[in-house]
Amino acid sequence: DLEIAIKSSFAKVVIVGNGAVGKSSMIQRYCKGIFTKDYKKTIGVDFMERQIELEGEEVRLMLWDTAGQEEFDAITKAYYRGAQACVVAFSTTDRASFLAVKRWKKKVEDECGDIPMVLVQNKIDLIDEAAILNEEAEALARELGLRLYRTSVKEDLNVEQVFSYLAALYIAEL
Ligand code: GDP
Repeated sequence: DLEIAIKSSFAKVVIVGNGAVGKSSMIQRYCKGIFTKDYKKTIGVDFMERQIELEGEEVRLMLWDTAGQEEFDAITKAYYRGAQACVVAFSTTDRASFLAVKRWKKKVEDECGDIPMVLVQNKIDLIDEAAILNEEAEALARELGLRLYRTSVKEDLNVEQVFSYLAALYIAEL
């Protein structure tokens, strides 16, 4: 008898970064395939999920939204608890969100330890309003030892890649 065993695992993924960088939109885009400009965060919905298959492994990514608690210390411990992977996001048009990346990374490490992490520069469609040079973003990624993805949730650029990469890192650690 041949048994095909398919490992199925769950991964809690937290998405951190300053307010309005596009975290909720990214979750919506990845899990529902849509972009809405005036998407209001639904209080009470903790996460959305999507199942993907990578190298014969099925992984269910549960993407946790901060539900509007972006203020650095307002995010509860429950949000971070058990997180197995993390996206640190900033916006092309928001310099403060770029400068906050280090603090977000440290916060996640303090709460979750050394988990797979990726750096995301969102809103690359707003190139005319860019507040960060490409070289600066690359230098930060190098310094932090993170891979950098440039995304537009609006135009659906590179969003799939972010989560495939994260899932691959996660699987490699199983
Ligand atoms: P959050 O506070 O980090 O969860 O950010 P939101 O997901 O609420 O997004 C903040 C605003 O930025 C919303 O108006 C989104 O529609 C918009 N937004 C998100 N991603 C993009 C993007 O890639 N390009 C553009 N132009 N707008 C975006």
